[in-house]
Amino acid sequence: MEGRGPASGSASRRWVRQGGGKEMDFLILFLIYLAVSFSCMVIVIKFSRQSQECFARISHHVTRMIGPVVPRWLQIAVQYALYRLIHQRNSFFLVLHLMLEVAVYGEYSWDVFPYSLELGFTLSILLLPYILLLGKMYFFYLCCTSDPGIISPSNHKQLVKVYTYDGILYQRACVCSTCKLVKPARSKHCRVCGCCVHRFDHHCVWVNNCIGALNIRYFLFYLFTLLGMTAAVGTVTVRFLVQVALMSNLPQAMYVNTKGEHVPVGVLFIVQKLFLTFPRILFMLGFTLLSFFLLVGYTAFHLFLVMTNQTSNEWYKHKINCRCHMDNSCPDRQIWRNLYHRGLVTNMKEIICPVTPQKRSR
Ligand SMILES: [Zn+2]
Ligand SMILES: [Zn+2]
Repeated sequence: MEGRGPASGSASRRWVRQGGGKEMDFLILFLIYLAVSFSCMVIVIKFSRQSQECFARISHHVTRMIGPVVPRWLQIAVQYALYRLIHQRNSFFLVLHLMLEVAVYGEYSWDVFPYSLELGFTLSILLLPYILLLGKMYFFYLCCTSDPGIISPSNHKQLVKVYTYDGILYQRACVCSTCKLVKPARSKHCRVCGCCVHRFDHHCVWVNNCIGALNIRYFLFYLFTLLGMTAAVGTVTVRFLVQVALMSNLPQAMYVNTKGEHVPVGVLFIVQKLFLTFPRILFMLGFTLLSFFLLVGYTAFHLFLVMTNQTSNEWYKHKINCRCHMDNSCPDRQIWRNLYHRGLVTNMKEIICPVTPQKRSR
């Protein structure tokens, strides 16, 4: 614990005596780390939600940029790897997801948990992230392995009767060129999975599966538990750092400036000191908080979709339709009305107890 554990009063004095230049370097490094992590998360979330077009465009520009300096064989290898990553089912993001979780929980278990226990935190608070992790793993497993609602010749006849065609986003007698079946309303062919999915929401790279009528409930619970995990880990870690700063009397600490005056340390100074003492914890906390804020937005978006009985696919298509509607010169402009919205309770029921062919045929 020496040099890393909860700081005593002497530790705070030692911190205050240290110079300022090095801390600033670390802080800049930390800010760059946050900016890069945030950008990567936004790109991956955007890519995982909608069509892969934006990701394909990025890879195209990157290939063009590196073209003059990278050998041809390497370019072909990169293009092939990107093609596999974008257009075929693969476990890259699934493994990345698990690796990030191992890194966060490894740091939590190695440093935050034992230090917080020494500081007198209750065991129930410290164990909450593990309980949420168990719940998340269960729903994650269900999302990865469950049938999202794959349309096959055996269930097609019944699925086609579940939703009515709105005549705008979903047209009657529209045949999937791959599956050779008439597309039921609200279904979509997933290029990555190679099948049509009933009430298609999106293809999620994090679970390497489509999200559709039959597994959207698992996906929502997966999001809730994931959000809970980041909130629990973040709260315990922030509480631990605040406690350490208070025990070290850091808010009351003074430092001598270049004019030889004693000046009270500010919040930024305390963060810098904590960062120098617990760099791994701060990196983990930065990543956890970024994930938390992105997950808040993403979960809120999905709750909005549940409440209005829309899929991500419909919301995205509707957005394009709206843009078209505002353009008076567009020959295809039509006003889209959400026919599937039947009130909050019914909408939620539809998610929790999806309309399956068996239920419909009763
Ligand atoms: Zn299809
Ligand atoms: Zn899919």
